[in-house]
Amino acid sequence: MTAGCIYVDIDDCLGQTARMFAKVFEQEHGRRVDLEEIESFDLGVSLGLSPESLDDFMKSVHRPEVLAEIQPMTGAVETLAAWVDRGYEVAVVTGRPPGTEEVSRQWLTERGVPHHSLTFLDKYSWSEDLFSGSRAISMEELSRRSFSLVVEDSAEVARRLASVLDAPVALLDRPWNRSSPRPEDELKGRIFRCRDWQDIGERFSRP
Ligand SMILES: [Mg+2]
Repeated sequence: MTAGCIYVDIDDCLGQTARMFAKVFEQEHGRRVDLEEIESFDLGVSLGLSPESLDDFMKSVHRPEVLAEIQPMTGAVETLAAWVDRGYEVAVVTGRPPGTEEVSRQWLTERGVPHHSLTFLDKYSWSEDLFSGSRAISMEELSRRSFSLVVEDSAEVARRLASVLDAPVALLDRPWNRSSPRPEDELKGRIFRCRDWQDIGERFSRP
């Protein structure tokens, strides 16, 4: 019997993915992007890329050698370890293309991220070729699972999860989830904006 199961997203929750994507963008497009400039979760909008260029860029940033180099988010491992100590299970749920499974598993192990499972969820309805041989589950399938808490950085995914799951959503404050209407104002009492992992750990010590 576990205390409960906690859903944790990888990109920009466990790892500093946007920082890595900005680095790749600078290498490929010769323009430096500050994290604060990424005001839309849609990188086509934030980086000013056409749909074709965005598709190429998404393929480029999902290469294993890029994903492997993503730096962990400060405090994530410690907060997860504290939950595991209290009897919780950690379910890592990512919207990455399922083809990234091997590098994602390796990253979680190498960075010492306490977790019990890794699930690929179709969060963003990626283009077909990014999702070839898809082993990703649908939102509908996920909604049949039970969670005590969700940790996400995407405002849109947070909204959807808050409406299909019976669990509070901790939204990690990032430049791309601050535009109005803010999800925590729309779904009061279901979505909670959190400054960082320390804030999440303190607010939800026993979710
Ligand atoms: Mg994310």
